[in-house]
Amino acid sequence: MKSNKAVVKVMHQPKREEEDLAPLFHELLEKLGEDPSREGLLRTPERVSTAMKFLTSGYNADIKKLVNGALYEVKYDEMVVVKDIEFFSLCEHHMLPFFGKMHVAYLPKSRVIGLSKIPRIVDAFARRLQIQERLTQHVAQTIQEIIDPVGVGVICEARHFCMMMRGVEKQHSGAMTSAMLGAFRDRKDTRDEFLSLVNYRNM
Ligand SMILES: [Zn+2]
Repeated sequence: MKSNKAVVKVMHQPKREEEDLAPLFHELLEKLGEDPSREGLLRTPERVSTAMKFLTSGYNADIKKLVNGALYEVKYDEMVVVKDIEFFSLCEHHMLPFFGKMHVAYLPKSRVIGLSKIPRIVDAFARRLQIQERLTQHVAQTIQEIIDPVGVGVICEARHFCMMMRGVEKQHSGAMTSAMLGAFRDRKDTRDEFLSLVNYRNM
């Protein structure tokens, strides 16, 4: 697992300061040519500040605490698949939303994780400034590190507001990324089983 180092760094991110971002958004409104004192915008800086803190709350997520107590030693060696995990993230290039679905699978060695924890791991990495490729990798590497399975597969399909609303304005184009580790990378039958369980071909 050459990627473990990166995960350790991700998992020990320092707590960020609790900053009040409202003055920044007040200034932003002015610079956009708006009048922050008009009625509809009076509390907007505050609301945007609260929203942005929530949308980036993944920086404060403690993955170890998040999965605490939900790891089980079992004799189970069939593929575990959690499909259609909805996520919402912000692209780090434009700070505009990208959102979609993630499909996560792993092949246990001796340990499984509570199924509800997998979407929470996805959220912990989605609620940051991201690029889809790294989000996909981080989810796969984290599951690899926590569960130590025979392999992990993650497929992510997303639509990006920065593509839909500006620039190319392709409202219906989506991007797909995948991360395959261990058996999912080395064994075609394992990868194929995963792809057929989530209804993809030719990846
Ligand atoms: Zn973007």
